[in-house]
Amino acid sequence: MDLLDFYTNAPLLELGAEADRVRREKHPRNIVTFIVDRNINYTNVCVADCGFCAFYRRPKHAEGWTLSYEDIGRKIDEAKAVGAVQILMQGGHNPYIPFEWYLDLLRYIKTNHPPSGDENLGHHDVRHRRDARRAH
Ligand code: SF4
Repeated sequence: MDLLDFYTNAPLLELGAEADRVRREKHPRNIVTFIVDRNINYTNVCVADCGFCAFYRRPKHAEGWTLSYEDIGRKIDEAKAVGAVQILMQGGHNPYIPFEWYLDLLRYIKTNHPPSGDENLGHHDVRHRRDARRAH
């Protein structure tokens, strides 16, 4: 079987069934683990224009928003209260948020909501921020 061809062209359900078959073959004890985490969307303002996305709003749109550090902190506490061990910070590519905002956010989280697991920024968010900073 040409795996790349199968991965690229197989109907989604067929691909999922095959992935499940391989998983069962590799892990016959059928033990599946998971963690509780929370994906915090800190802004819906974005310039990436992904065609599938119904979440984002272009800059200056009346429905655009960015959470305050306090709002983000509340969401972290809510997640921890139900056993979350990982927080993922994921937002739009918001040109109004300076790189320092992210650094201050991490300081705020470290001070006010000390990590008990991992705190992650989506890599595309970090790259966007880094590139925006270099452009200024
Ligand atoms: S980068 Fe994220 S928020 Fe922006 S349009 Fe794409 S999926 Fe939506």
